[in-house]
Amino acid sequence: MSEATTATMHPSSQSAFDIVMKNFDHAARYVEIDPGYAELIKSIDREVRVEIPTRMDNGELRVFIGYRVQHNNARGAYKGGIRYHQDVDLDEVRALAALMTLKTAVVGIPYGGGKGGVTVDPRTLSATELERMTRMFIDKIDPIIGPQEDIPAPDVNTNAQVMAWMMDEYSRRHGHTPGIVTGKPIELGGSQGRAEATGRGAVIILREAAKTYGIDLHHSTVAIQGFGNVGSYAAWTLDEMGVKIVGISDVSGAIVNSDGVNIPAAINHLKNHPTLEGFEGGERMTNEELLELECDVLIPAALGRVITVENADKIKARMIVEGANEPITGRADAILNDKGVVVLPDILANAGGVTVSYFEWVQNLQQFHWELEEVRDKLEKILVNSFQHIYEIAQKHKISLRLAAYVLAIERLEKATRLRGV
Ligand code: NAD
Repeated sequence: MSEATTATMHPSSQSAFDIVMKNFDHAARYVEIDPGYAELIKSIDREVRVEIPTRMDNGELRVFIGYRVQHNNARGAYKGGIRYHQDVDLDEVRALAALMTLKTAVVGIPYGGGKGGVTVDPRTLSATELERMTRMFIDKIDPIIGPQEDIPAPDVNTNAQVMAWMMDEYSRRHGHTPGIVTGKPIELGGSQGRAEATGRGAVIILREAAKTYGIDLHHSTVAIQGFGNVGSYAAWTLDEMGVKIVGISDVSGAIVNSDGVNIPAAINHLKNHPTLEGFEGGERMTNEELLELECDVLIPAALGRVITVENADKIKARMIVEGANEPITGRADAILNDKGVVVLPDILANAGGVTVSYFEWVQNLQQFHWELEEVRDKLEKILVNSFQHIYEIAQKHKISLRLAAYVLAIERLEKATRLRGV
């Protein structure tokens, strides 16, 4: 943990990994856990930093830095996405890996937690450069990944195409291995319902929470930050349910419309444009303003640590659905809690993605293909049960849903660790 605090600091000034560890320590007080086991679960199993030499289209050589952090595999193979972003650093990858350990335990799927990242702005690369860099990254982490060891998936700026290159590169050495990554195109062993899973899952958790806390979604307004995989599918699912979305945003800024943003039109805009820039569905605002918009439900679905001590007090929403990983810093979380804002924590709210990644992996191992309805039904059951379980823990101990989710995860991780023996 001490190393993490010395890692590059985000403007929020709280280390991403420290936030997860502080939540862990807080939640551990509600679990009768031996301190030695707590330390074992918190600590990182292995972390790898690699150089990724990549030939640019103009012949120039560039060297990118990539990471794969394997946090814990007590409950199964390491599992977690790979992020391409200019701000990726070891501290962030550690935090995301630890969150995966907790998330897979919360939804009870047989995985541990890992995460990867490359410090690169992929918008500056051509498709061929991106492919070469991706293949070289897989080449470098090949010794530590495998369909029974560590299974990557998409995250920010990585998609089904990137997963296809990863699968192909790994398969060149090991034979056809679709189970090495999830989030692949359907044609290469991807699962029905994987693309929509995280956004859809976030909406399932929101729907359950709204019912429980007496919020009528059909008379509510929603704002969503981030319109990529998670944000756009969350928007699409809510729109299908007839819920009004008054603001959306992406890296180019926000669009706000009190009569409701036309979601199908925004999705359509992205078919021909890289961002929402130029989409004329409402008033333009900044991302910061979007977070403070007058609305009932806020769904941060872009990057981490966007709600901080600086803006937590200005948030108007009554409920926040963490589509993104760690969008709220520890200190901001306390402020929101005091204000009575209900936060649906990342390790529950965005767990739909890894749950359907698990279904994809199971289908790959069995060389079988499930129908969309089967995937959706199984996802629905797992998420509804997980929400209920966490809500009961929160009521029992009078704690937040975040701490309750950590409590559930820690209990399951401790049991698995004890049973395996050290
Ligand atoms: P993505 O790359 O598909 O989309 C990211 C979106 O965020 C884009 O719309 C982008 O324009 C926007 N964005 C980037 N920088 C921004 C900024 N500074 N301000 C506002 N918006 C910005 O990524 P994604 O897969 O949708 O992931 C989004 C979040 O959800 C991440 O925190 C990720 O870790 C988390 N998550 C993703 C999955 C998954 O299955 N893809 C699963 C669980 C959690």
